[in-house]
Amino acid sequence: METPFYEAKPILEKLHNSDFEAFYVGGAVRDYLLKREIGDIDIATSAKPDEIKQIFSKTVDVGAEHGTIIVLHNNKSFEVTTYRAETGYDDFRRPKSVSFISSLKEDLRRRDFTINAMAMDIEGTIYDYFDGRQHLKEKVIKTVDSPSERFSEDALRMLRAVRFVSQLGFTLCQETKAALKELVHLLDAISVERKTVEIEKLFQGAHYKAAIQTLIDCQMNNYLPGMTEKEQQLKILASFQLEFLSTREDLWTMITYKVEPPSVEKYLRKWKIPVKLIKIVEKNIKFLMLLQQEKSWTSLLLYEAGSDCALSVERIRSVIDDPNMLNENINAVKDSLHKLPIQNKSQLDITGHELIKIMKKKPGPWVAKLISEIEREIILNTLENERSAIKEWVLKCNQNFEQNY
Ligand code: ATP
Ligand code: MG
Repeated sequence: METPFYEAKPILEKLHNSDFEAFYVGGAVRDYLLKREIGDIDIATSAKPDEIKQIFSKTVDVGAEHGTIIVLHNNKSFEVTTYRAETGYDDFRRPKSVSFISSLKEDLRRRDFTINAMAMDIEGTIYDYFDGRQHLKEKVIKTVDSPSERFSEDALRMLRAVRFVSQLGFTLCQETKAALKELVHLLDAISVERKTVEIEKLFQGAHYKAAIQTLIDCQMNNYLPGMTEKEQQLKILASFQLEFLSTREDLWTMITYKVEPPSVEKYLRKWKIPVKLIKIVEKNIKFLMLLQQEKSWTSLLLYEAGSDCALSVERIRSVIDDPNMLNENINAVKDSLHKLPIQNKSQLDITGHELIKIMKKKPGPWVAKLISEIEREIILNTLENERSAIKEWVLKCNQNFEQNY
């Protein structure tokens, strides 16, 4: 058995010692059987939330009413969830009521797909009531019971299905795909935040090309923020080797750059992307556009972009133009960045205060402007980054500055 299961084993044993059932469930069991890297360990148990809290000294109550308690063990956290059944779904997204039950099989039945509806005990015995192992072999994603019912209960499952297409390289079983096509409009009820999580996972999965095609086939894009009628743009995105992108910033820059919304900020706000990330994407896109005109980096552009932005932009440009050149292009940009006389303002051999003294003028916006001019000269190698040289240059140009500012 793999390490993550060993780490969680004492939790299952402790539950057993108190006469409760406890199993590993969900994605960890699926990934173990697929020999994929195992993510979070989820545990299902017959113990009720109060009982879980009594058994373990360190717990976090994240949703006791739904049966989930986080148990902290050796500085790691594990979700322990009471067997439950869900009934009477509201608004195609949340169950009206959750009832705690005593049967593992019934707990597994409420799960989304057969491949996610398996359990494993501490001995490694698999409990597979819905043919999950067979579907893993066949590489199909199939809902537990009727797909129409399961998608109507919680429409997010439709996006999860396509996300698993991307992560696992599986296909949707015919009935599941047909139900998805029919019920895709129910995605309107799902919060943007939940959609964004799934879409990011989808784009980062190894089989994103097939997943994006499935997204288009089922017209799911029409229910994603700012993606209505963007099939063509999605096809272009799918044609790129997106695996060469390194970060979330890269991914959102690429998506936004290709979708070409009238406002980058408004588009990303629709996706509820954090402001900090939006700012980075805006900067990346500004430089991608500048480079479209300039064709190649200049020292000034590199300096203004800074290392993170320049490398992100170069990755995106290479993925679009010629991914075979990616490493070479990235190394060239790194080299040029390294060769810049200064990397940022803080490396200037003069401060604003010193400039105020030299110029014998009151502080004001002119200081920032003068600093920009000095940076520019230094980057263009027409001025040395050395205090006395800068001082001399400033005094010599004083006259011009008096006129200009
Ligand atoms: P990941 O690798 O992303 O963690 P996962 O399958 O473990 O994938 P989680 O979101 O961690 O997904 O959920 C854990 C388990 O809970 C799933 O495997 C599935 O059994 C069940 N589950 C999660 N979301 C839903 C849902 N919307 N409807 C039904 N069952 C769900
Ligand atoms: Mg998981």
